[in-house]
Amino acid sequence: MVAGIINNSKPKMGTISETVQRARDAFNRGVTRPVEWRRQQLENLLRLYKENRQGMIEVLRQDLRRSKMEAALLEVDFLINDLINTLHNLDKWIKPEKPSKGLVNILDEVVIYNDPYGVTLVIGAWNYPLQLLLLPMSGAIAAGNAVIVKPSEMAPACAKFIAEMLPKYLDNDAILVVEGGPEETTELLKQKFDYIFYTGSTSVGKIIYEAATKNLTPVTLELGGKSPVYIDNSADVEVTTKRVLWGKFINVGQTCIAPDYILCTKEVQDKFVQMAKKVLKEWYGEDPQKSPDLSRIINGRHFSRLQTLVDASKDKVAIGGSYDPKDKFIEPTILANVTPSDKIMADEIFGPILPIVPVANAYEAIQFINEREKPLVLYVFAKEMDVVNSLIENTSSGGMCINETVMHLAVETLPFGGVGSSGIGAYHGKASFDTFTHKKSCLIKNFSSIGEKLASGRYPPYSDAKLSYI
Ligand code: NAD
Repeated sequence: MVAGIINNSKPKMGTISETVQRARDAFNRGVTRPVEWRRQQLENLLRLYKENRQGMIEVLRQDLRRSKMEAALLEVDFLINDLINTLHNLDKWIKPEKPSKGLVNILDEVVIYNDPYGVTLVIGAWNYPLQLLLLPMSGAIAAGNAVIVKPSEMAPACAKFIAEMLPKYLDNDAILVVEGGPEETTELLKQKFDYIFYTGSTSVGKIIYEAATKNLTPVTLELGGKSPVYIDNSADVEVTTKRVLWGKFINVGQTCIAPDYILCTKEVQDKFVQMAKKVLKEWYGEDPQKSPDLSRIINGRHFSRLQTLVDASKDKVAIGGSYDPKDKFIEPTILANVTPSDKIMADEIFGPILPIVPVANAYEAIQFINEREKPLVLYVFAKEMDVVNSLIENTSSGGMCINETVMHLAVETLPFGGVGSSGIGAYHGKASFDTFTHKKSCLIKNFSSIGEKLASGRYPPYSDAKLSYI
């Protein structure tokens, strides 16, 4: 065993099965278990982020034309803050837990060890191509696992950055990058992993889940879906509008927790649209295509999908509605008086189009939400706490965020994940460590004669007297 020895030589990447075997060998040699190794890798990763902050912002610009502010806030600095928190708490999280014990075990030790799973696979999505891959990766490292990461091929500049940078900073036997798309992922999924962490669409999530069942591999699936916003009559219109629009138009709606559609009364709809006109003009100017703050759609396929949605909704456009295929630009667009059967309500939008579906009241909104798949997040805007509580108590979603959008993600003590078709499992902060940790229960007895005497009542020959004694 060469526990704790770190190899920073350039990896000789062989076939995918050889890559997985290399990680397995490192795990089996005990490389990843010592806290010193974990801490050193996480510190190296922090150094990578700090030394390459500008480079990370640049590759996000190349793939998504992401503004510097959004790149820093939603990816680079988010990763830095998460790592600082992990490094600060690592010793505490690793410690074995000592649960309470009953009289029967008064002389024994009862312990829960935080055991790494082994070789883990992290598959990332393109919309936040750095954060969605590197955040779970650092959770896997903190928990003492070997990791193979597969960045999304749809954000090629970010994928290249990851493939070039990780080997320069991290242990090349235990933390490995596999680049590629569905073909490589399919090949990866034929290998045996001890944990699979996937972020992406619900349809591919089902493929991952099915592949994982072959080896009974536990999974976290961070998926998507339509996340609704209910705006109550009691909400502050100006603050609500700003918070909803910000959550929707960061990364031009290509965010898993972007507000997908709004439910509100017609009265609130009118006020929201009026306020949105004012706010969007203030934020993005007369010609939003010239704004440096709006990202672009990731590729031609997604652009055509969104263009079709805008074209199918022409009669519902209250704000925006223009697009430019050459620039993969879609104007921030708000649709009013949308009905449940409209095309825009069929699937997750994942772009800068925000439909408003009028409802009579909170009760009708709850019914609407419960008739559909469980969302990743449910947003509620209301001053009336009775309204807020009735949505909390009567709906199911991965999480909820009240009078705000997206920012629940940044609360490091809140586990982030979906439920039902929006996902399985959760991560962020300690939840990332726990996700990649097997809770290994252990009862430790000794050979003391008094202990043996107390326990001997269970040995044959059995008798009614012994039964009453036990
Ligand atoms: P995707 O499912 O198309 O791709 C994700 C990953 O799966 C990529 O690495 C890709 O190479 C791989 N992949 C694609 N097709 C595959 C196949 N047939 N077999 C095996 N692997 C395959 O997802 P996406 O388009 O990158 O992301 C968009 C979706 O992800 C949206 O639904 C969004 O809501 C969701 N999402 C969820 C979260 C979350 O945290 N819950 C975060 C971001 C995105």
